[in-house]
Amino acid sequence: MKALQDKIIKDGKVLSTEVLKVDSFLNHQIDPELMQQIGQEFADLYKDAGLTKIVTIESSGIAPAVMAGLILGIPVVFARKRKSVTLTDNFYSAEVYSFTKQVSSDISVSKDFLNKDDVVLIIDDFLANGEAAKGLLSIVEQAGATTSGIGIVIEKGFQPGGQALRDQGHRVNSLAIISSLENGKVQFA
Ligand code: 5GP
Repeated sequence: MKALQDKIIKDGKVLSTEVLKVDSFLNHQIDPELMQQIGQEFADLYKDAGLTKIVTIESSGIAPAVMAGLILGIPVVFARKRKSVTLTDNFYSAEVYSFTKQVSSDISVSKDFLNKDDVVLIIDDFLANGEAAKGLLSIVEQAGATTSGIGIVIEKGFQPGGQALRDQGHRVNSLAIISSLENGKVQFA
């Protein structure tokens, strides 16, 4: 997706050979117009998939997921990173090791919002080692629902998550795939 690549080049900050900071349009401040274009891309890719729901993870997956959900006309469910008192024991949960925070935490989704008849597109902002995607896949599986695919805004292709998910037979659509962050420069695959 050209507009996304241009934005990454213009406003992305390479923090290390492994981490890209995109706080100015995706992870802190949000560029709604770009999010709308991203939502449209996901909607075009999955318009014939018979989706009933989008599942993402708070907080940075929510903006692109909501835009896709708006265009596809389906609800968006986001996994919470903390157990809320209002979720009680009526939830599916999974443990996710955070790439950026380097700690494990539980994510959970209420059983009220996902069931065996759902056909799900999983959306997240970044794909690195695939831990977040794995946790979301587990939650969809616990619900007995079907995962149609995984939509990623920025995949770091030099990290193993994307390959592992594709090897497991999942459809993974990444709108930008970064092949390297060496020498402070973003290179696309
Ligand atoms: P994974 O679970 O695939 O290892 O990592 C994906 C998660 O870690 C995403 O939900 C995202 O929040 C975070 N993440 C991974 N790599 C990066 C990165 O380079 N930059 C930012 N901002 N977040 C990242």
